[in-house]
Amino acid sequence: MTNRIFNFSAGPAMLPTSVLEKARSEMMSFRGSGMSIMEISHRSELFESVLEAAEKGVRNALSVPLSHKVLFLQGGASLQFSMIPMNFLSKGRSADYVLTGTWGEKARVEADRCGRVNVIYSGEEDGYRAVPDEHALSFSDDAEYMHFTSNETIEGVQFSYEPDAGNTALICDASSDILSRPIDVTKYALIYAGAQKNIGPSGVTLVIIRDDMLDRVPQDQHSMLNYRKIAANGSMLNTPNTWGVYLISLVMEWLEEIGGVPAIEKINKQKSERLYAAIDGSDGFYTGHAERNARSNMNVTFRLPAAELDAAFCSEAARRGLDGLRGHRSVGGIRASIYNSFPIEGVEHLVEFMGEFSAANR
Ligand SMILES: *Cc1c(COP(=O)(O)O)cnc(C)c1O
Repeated sequence: MTNRIFNFSAGPAMLPTSVLEKARSEMMSFRGSGMSIMEISHRSELFESVLEAAEKGVRNALSVPLSHKVLFLQGGASLQFSMIPMNFLSKGRSADYVLTGTWGEKARVEADRCGRVNVIYSGEEDGYRAVPDEHALSFSDDAEYMHFTSNETIEGVQFSYEPDAGNTALICDASSDILSRPIDVTKYALIYAGAQKNIGPSGVTLVIIRDDMLDRVPQDQHSMLNYRKIAANGSMLNTPNTWGVYLISLVMEWLEEIGGVPAIEKINKQKSERLYAAIDGSDGFYTGHAERNARSNMNVTFRLPAAELDAAFCSEAARRGLDGLRGHRSVGGIRASIYNSFPIEGVEHLVEFMGEFSAANR
């Protein structure tokens, strides 16, 4: 096999090797069809079975109840920032937004165009290091929905609990931690995630939406932005990303084989605990960005004693096959993204390198 490196990129991220190999083995003739998956009709039985497998895989992995539809859309998680308010927030109405990082703020900007936004929590002043206390959130009586980001990818800030919004429809951007730990889907009106972190390749957005939300879609909504129409057409209002949906079906198969979400959660905890232990045990050489109770299991963000060391850290790491560690330009420092498919050996190599780098640069 060609040498594969440990890719700590925040997304698109590593995919399981076995998934890539399976896709390669089926590339030239998908299940005996004489065509690749990218060349067959999306209306063919063959593709319909792939779409069904992808949906079933997501349903099983997250125990999605029958009250919710599982949809595959395009436009990335970013289009959901607009689609959600365009479907559920109108002039004169309001929605609650909880801002724990850059992505939530981007979502708020789009919602502002449609109606009134109540920011009921913002961690911006402190540089987005925290999540609100579980019981400190108070929801507006008249809010059409509450939007939050379960894991803020750029800052490495993650909710350790699922907010209880009472009667308010709960909407979650779970792009960077979906399938990394069990969630209670019954609590949510809508969950969305760009696929390129934990689900598959970029170009597909997973949307899990409760049926009653479909009734709220305005009658005059544009078809391609209309959740009700997309659901009624089984995610095939137009040509879906057939390749992306296929890879998602393979990732779901892989996840099931290794024991599903509970099993991957254990591995994810081991990986992040090892990294945070290396940060905390470095005698102050490394400093974590997030407050302890808001630390992410998916994106581990930390700083070196001086920003000038960032470049040396990243290039020396890259020489050892540890790539993609540069923090987002808005936060600086280092970010190790360790999604579901990222192997624990890569974390062990990084921990070893961190020890050597701090000893050499203290
Ligand atoms: C990556 C990411 C996005 C943006 O995803 P796109 O698919 O590129 O639009 C949005 N929210 C979160 C939390 C993300 O991690």
